[in-house]
Amino acid sequence: MVTTHNLGFPRIGAQRELKFALEAYWNGKSGLDALRDTGRRLRKTHWAGQQGLDLLPVGDFSFYDQVLDMSFTLGNLPERVRDFRGDPLDNYFRVARGRSASHGDCGCGHGVQAGEMTKWFDTNYHYIVPEFSASTSFSLDASRLLEQLDEARALGIPAKPVILGPVSYLFVGKSKDGSSRLDLLPRLLPVYAELLDALASRGVEWVQIDEPALVTELDPGWAQAYAAAYQALNTGKVKILLATYFGQLLENLPLACALPVQGLHIDAVNGAADIEPAIAALPRDTVLSLGVVNGRNIWKTDLNRVLDLLEPIHARLGDRLWIAPSCSLLHVPVDLNSETALDGDIRSWLAFALQKLDEIKLLARALDGGRAALRAELQANQAAIASRRNSPRVNKPQVKAALASIDAALGRRQSPYPLRAEKQAGLLKLPAFPTTTIGSFPQTAEIRQARLRFRKGELDLAAYKEAMRAEIALAVREQEVLGLDVLVHGEPERNDMVEYFGEQLEGYAFTQYGWVQSYGSRCVKPPILFGDITRPQAMTVEWITYAQTLTQKPMKGMLTGPVTILNWSFVRDDQPRSVSCLQLALAIRQEVLDLEKAGVRIIQIDEAALREGLPLRKSQWSDYLGWAVESFRIAANGVRDETQIHTHMCYSEFNDIMPSIADMDADVITIETSRSDMELLDAFDSFNYPNEIGPGVYDIHSPNIPTQEHISDLMRKAGRRIPAERLWVNPDCGLKTRAWSEVIPALKNMVAAARALREA
Ligand code: GLN
Ligand code: ZN
Repeated sequence: MVTTHNLGFPRIGAQRELKFALEAYWNGKSGLDALRDTGRRLRKTHWAGQQGLDLLPVGDFSFYDQVLDMSFTLGNLPERVRDFRGDPLDNYFRVARGRSASHGDCGCGHGVQAGEMTKWFDTNYHYIVPEFSASTSFSLDASRLLEQLDEARALGIPAKPVILGPVSYLFVGKSKDGSSRLDLLPRLLPVYAELLDALASRGVEWVQIDEPALVTELDPGWAQAYAAAYQALNTGKVKILLATYFGQLLENLPLACALPVQGLHIDAVNGAADIEPAIAALPRDTVLSLGVVNGRNIWKTDLNRVLDLLEPIHARLGDRLWIAPSCSLLHVPVDLNSETALDGDIRSWLAFALQKLDEIKLLARALDGGRAALRAELQANQAAIASRRNSPRVNKPQVKAALASIDAALGRRQSPYPLRAEKQAGLLKLPAFPTTTIGSFPQTAEIRQARLRFRKGELDLAAYKEAMRAEIALAVREQEVLGLDVLVHGEPERNDMVEYFGEQLEGYAFTQYGWVQSYGSRCVKPPILFGDITRPQAMTVEWITYAQTLTQKPMKGMLTGPVTILNWSFVRDDQPRSVSCLQLALAIRQEVLDLEKAGVRIIQIDEAALREGLPLRKSQWSDYLGWAVESFRIAANGVRDETQIHTHMCYSEFNDIMPSIADMDADVITIETSRSDMELLDAFDSFNYPNEIGPGVYDIHSPNIPTQEHISDLMRKAGRRIPAERLWVNPDCGLKTRAWSEVIPALKNMVAAARALREA
């Protein structure tokens, strides 16, 4: 019999119940008991949804983040929260978000510095970074895990506790004093051993230990740590399923297969090439768990194809074969059945978490009992796969033809930057240190209200457009009064910089409840890129040209770039990401050319998520950067020399991708730099970055208003790195999350600082 299991389930709830319970608690509207109740209820619901699998994950539920859970389990609390005397869950929220609930009875009246947050491998999930120093010590607090285990047991759930493994735990953390994290391993392992003992003494047979670091390029020290760690944990009291995911083990495969564990899980979707070498390398009695259903996307699995793969493996491995999703289902929405508004065709192509588990169960039944008994189910699956493959909404010959005709010339500007810069300067007549903003102005309650009423049908299109035009007029007026040099329309008509474009492109679908946890209570609802991309009509021209009629100053057209649209969507699995990206590039290129035709002289193409898309392994970076930069260039570079192209990037390390940034060849790049005290500019300086740069001088993530002095100081620092004639003055990012009462004085100071610089 094939064993079926799951690595983790989305915890936020099909209707985002956890989000609302957390926020109610944090806002003082409910108590800890109510929150804990919601947690219990969700766990119960989620286990019920997973029923039928042989082993269910326990301990994957979290009130905020599974890595922070592990820090608490290991007793690795930052020094600054150690003297807390209230409920441990309140202390947990203090590390997660800087404070606990806003009601007075948790005893934590004042806030603390929140733990740093960063992206979990190559996903859009953010975890709280464990903090280490030379003096870090560990001590076990198994209460959370044991409670959840007892709960599962009481419900009769076949429980497989899930924990983050010791090497990956150190790997994803950060040393605060420059000491080596690996030096902590000997201190850490006894605590893990104690935890495994505690689980064993409750009769646990299998424990899933996650070690995703194994799919990355490991320095020798880290690779060696694996052998030491699992030698120490192999006490024979519980069986260990070592889980790797998100990619291929590649050069780490011999290492992973030689570890003294009882089972190994590999990502058979993203690391399919590992399967045969793993079978060859694993000891004869070690379980091989194959993650054959993609835990990172929303597509139905081609079950017959997977059975073609699995049947011969099953014949060889017998009971040693386990099957599961490729990774935790944390990264997909819960239930497709909630999507009642989704078009029937598209719906038939999709599978969310619950549907993916049904696929696992079906695969196991087909492996154990043969495909014949499941004719109807397999035929239905086959029909859905074929419908998607043959759909004219997915495959559009004219898009394929356009892609085939792409040549190098498409991504090239007419002239090199110095020549363009001269022509643009003659035309735009901007002062030195030109001032601008990144695009959005405050998304006020009125704007959101109007959008909501429009969606509900309470406001007709004409009235909605009128309301948005009034917002644009207001933003233009304010910018004129402020004396900014290059204006923006303010983006009131956009709920989200990706969704806005997705909604107008053909080849995109939207869900109602397709929420995926981003961090804590925050979720995103990525649009689904399902088909070849076309742009039926102009998407932004009407708004920008309207805005331009209101001012003599140049109005900057505002677009989201192809790479960012791609990286913030669920994308196709039937063609390479690079192909989808190029299709998006062609659509954005049409928009750019339409803007130019309409007389827009400056066009900004945001690539906020360019760096985010970097693959886990450095060896694959150049491939990604190659097509990502090419896509941007195709989108941007069809314009005349006189048209000025801007791009914008949010906080990014630029050092290791500098040549690619320069390759984008935007006339102006604006970046988020203010918190780095302009140090991020060093990368541009040492690379001799040739084009213009607007380093952010206003930290828009903070409600604080920067003084003129502070901005001048930042600009002086920028001037030490970048020649003055190539510097712009602008905020770090868009202003949509700020209030006008913050934005106006801040920009006033910014404009004053720029004027002072011109006179100096
Ligand atoms: N133009 C967008 C805005 O101003 C850019 C947002 C971003 O970089 N994340 O909102
Ligand atoms: Zn930004």
